[in-house]
Amino acid sequence: MTEKSCDTLEQSEEFARRCTVLEENYKRICDRIAQAAVRSGRKPEDITLLGATKTVSPELINHAIGLGLQHIGENRVQELMDKYDALLPCDKQFIGVLQTNKVKYLIGRVSLIQSVSSVHLAQEISRLSQKAGVITPILLEVNVGKEASKSGFLPEELEENVASVAALPGLRIDGLMAIPPICDQKAQLEQYFSVMNEYFIDIKSKKSDNVNMNILSMGMSADYETAITCGATMVRIGSLLFGSRILHH
Ligand SMILES: *Cc1c(COP(=O)(O)O)cnc(C)c1O
Repeated sequence: MTEKSCDTLEQSEEFARRCTVLEENYKRICDRIAQAAVRSGRKPEDITLLGATKTVSPELINHAIGLGLQHIGENRVQELMDKYDALLPCDKQFIGVLQTNKVKYLIGRVSLIQSVSSVHLAQEISRLSQKAGVITPILLEVNVGKEASKSGFLPEELEENVASVAALPGLRIDGLMAIPPICDQKAQLEQYFSVMNEYFIDIKSKKSDNVNMNILSMGMSADYETAITCGATMVRIGSLLFGSRILHH
């Protein structure tokens, strides 16, 4: 056997092993999502699982799609573009930090931009969506812990910024997204998630034009059940589903 085919055999065994782990993870996560939904007085189908696919190969993402995963989210525009044509049909979203000069690559390619963190960015999405003749659904990212290291609207600015962004043509606000600070205490984490749910309900109740609050995207591998219990309608799960990024990059 040549060295090359040895390599390939090892790789295919490794891939098969990762597929098996993915299948177990996917089933377990779906079960837990369903249970958390019921605990929060909702139905399993009220919660959307989004696979956070940064660093995950298109082959493994496709295996997840084959298992039933319907939504994926990428963090980097270049990585999304690189994988795009290799992916089986699925709903693709953008969840990462977005520079205005990269917006052009996302318009018409993703169904939702979750990480809109400034009016300036929303204006660029608006401009390019109008040019393309499309309406781009977006979420407003909230910096719920007011962390200097994170982007997003500050809670106290949220109301006026919802109004400014909703006034822009070519886009529609479909909800809110947040990544709370790392918390030692579960109670503290619940407080961040619950306060996000309050903003979500409050903005929804205003029934403003061009604001269609039906997605509250919060919760990741470490805290998705807590997020659901506190009101999340969408969880974004990466490592718990696909395996550790450090080992497999
Ligand atoms: C990576 C990422 C996730 C998933 O993180 P895990 O801890 O691996 O589940 C969710 N949301 C965003 C914005 C991410 O960048």
